Amino acid sequence: MSKRDYYEVLGVDKSASAEDIKKAYRKKAIQFHPDKNPGDKTAEEKFKEAAEAYDVLSDSNKKARYDQFGHAGVDNMGAGGAGGFGGGFTMDDIFSRFGDIFGGAFGGAFGGSPFGGFGGSSGSRRGVRRGSDIRIRVKLTLEEIAHGADKVIKINKLKACPDCHGKGAVSESDMKTCPTCNGTGVFTRVTHTFLGQMQSSSPCPACNGEGKVITKPCKTCNGEGVVKGAEEISFSIPKGVEGGMQLTISGKGNAPKRGGVNGNLLVVIEEEPHPELQRDGNDLIYSLYVTFVQAALGDDVEVPTVDGKVRIKIDPGTQSGRMLRLRGKGLPEVNGYGTGDLLVFVQVWTPAKLSKDEKDLLSKLRDSTNFKPNPSKEDRNFFDRMKKMFSQ
Ligand SMILES: [Zn+2]
Ligand SMILES: [Zn+2]
Repeated sequence: MSKRDYYEVLGVDKSASAEDIKKAYRKKAIQFHPDKNPGDKTAEEKFKEAAEAYDVLSDSNKKARYDQFGHAGVDNMGAGGAGGFGGGFTMDDIFSRFGDIFGGAFGGAFGGSPFGGFGGSSGSRRGVRRGSDIRIRVKLTLEEIAHGADKVIKINKLKACPDCHGKGAVSESDMKTCPTCNGTGVFTRVTHTFLGQMQSSSPCPACNGEGKVITKPCKTCNGEGVVKGAEEISFSIPKGVEGGMQLTISGKGNAPKRGGVNGNLLVVIEEEPHPELQRDGNDLIYSLYVTFVQAALGDDVEVPTVDGKVRIKIDPGTQSGRMLRLRGKGLPEVNGYGTGDLLVFVQVWTPAKLSKDEKDLLSKLRDSTNFKPNPSKEDRNFFDRMKKMFSQ
């Protein structure tokens, strides 16, 4: 791929001063800044191309070589050091090396400024104007947590105005170059001190750093660029989430006033209590009540799981408090592999009301040797294990 001439890239001629080159680069960097051209690959390439041109033309040594030999004179410079870009700039290189040159028009310098609107979130790109986040709560059943859930939720939010596409003015002719900053978006103040002139820049207050002011605001949004409206948003909740977790659906929050990046939709998970199962991490716990007769003679019984009912066998002579572990019948790990277990605690139900006949029958068994408690070591230890489990 043939490279464009660096002077052409910045739109300056060979006699341009260092200051002119810097100004020209600043203009290009702002024009093609990713915050102004979200998702635009061509703009990103131009943004990188301008940085590469500026890297060479702002360095007297590289510039001299470039002037003499063209691209061949500088292409391999600095690939191994000297801060060169080698195979090209990454966006982060550009922001960290040259951000202070064009950053004034963007958020970097805007944090907490009275001009507002430029996202304060450190995660956002160099403080591009960003809409606010919306936080919603979503209640999930254990079954949904076990299998993951697709949700479609209608939320009220600020959306980009459909008539002006978020610009605040319907057409370019309804905007004019800001007279305060002459379209640079920057308000520069020069102060004279003992040390000479001190220059400080801040975003132009008249145009909020945009370089343009609206002469005829869009009627639909009064020039705000946003309108209130409902939007149906679909998103998937992964398996295994827990109450209190927060999912971020990026770009589904409020639109910012007059262009920029949407805020995020934050989905806070809540768990709906299950009528029969309780959760302990990824394990589920079920208290299974059986009759004394079932425990003594054994039986097949149904237990609930997050995948419907399953039948399990109760062995003859099962003690109250015995735990049966159904492997893999718990909840999946949220960000990994493996699934918890379903722990079934057997509870022998002791009848509280008895008829005369029942009392007579039981009385006959009162002195039976087999009815005398004779817990095994395992049965005794079980209570220790349970105590440990629940005291944690
Ligand atoms: Zn509008
Ligand atoms: Zn201005």
